[in-house]
Amino acid sequence: MNIEFEQINRQIKNCSYCRLHETRINAVCGEGLIPSKFMFIAQAPGRTEDKKGKMFIGPSGKVFDNLLSHVDLKRDSIYLSNIIKCFLPKCRKPHQDEIETCYKLYLKKEIELVKPEIIVTLGYHVTKFIFKLYDLKVPNRIGLKSAFGKLFVAKNKKILPLRHPATVVHNSSNIDKLKKEYEILKTLQSKCAFIEKCPKFKEYTKGLTPVDFINLNCFGDWSKCEYYSQTK
Ligand code: SF4
Repeated sequence: MNIEFEQINRQIKNCSYCRLHETRINAVCGEGLIPSKFMFIAQAPGRTEDKKGKMFIGPSGKVFDNLLSHVDLKRDSIYLSNIIKCFLPKCRKPHQDEIETCYKLYLKKEIELVKPEIIVTLGYHVTKFIFKLYDLKVPNRIGLKSAFGKLFVAKNKKILPLRHPATVVHNSSNIDKLKKEYEILKTLQSKCAFIEKCPKFKEYTKGLTPVDFINLNCFGDWSKCEYYSQTK
């Protein structure tokens, strides 16, 4: 493992910076491919993760693996972390100061080292924090429902908010909805196959199309691009 990651992980394991260290069993470190195209960020470890000290090994982890396999991804082809490294007592909501402290100490550095092209935020609190960080307009809870599964571009980074796998743990009938939403991850694994023929991309090479359009479409969710059906 990268030496800087070993250092971060050692600090996480021994961290006592905020009140959460008093109630956790294990602080849980991020894991996976470094650098990585996809960096998934969940909220905080659950009870099983707290006991064992590993990412996503409880019921939500099982759902997550099922969703990853649905879109032809594996744990070792992504990087996966939590915004807060310690268990939230009684699974309560995170406090803003806990998110900010843990982000500044650890997640910020992880993002710098993983250099993801796409940050995938899982659930409301993580999405809200990352949207703010990248100067995106933060939707309210109702607005977020339509933002899930949609790609955003800000500060040269792609942000993809998705529903947290725990949604299925709470109600198993949600699995089809999440599978559909996660399918954008299949598209994002490659660029548009018709990029060479596309008039919009040709315009970009002459400086006539904004780079955000290209990142959102040609190198983003090209399956929904208005030029895709005309070009193929
Ligand atoms: S939540 Fe983060 S800042 Fe707080 S004790 Fe755990 S690792 Fe440290």
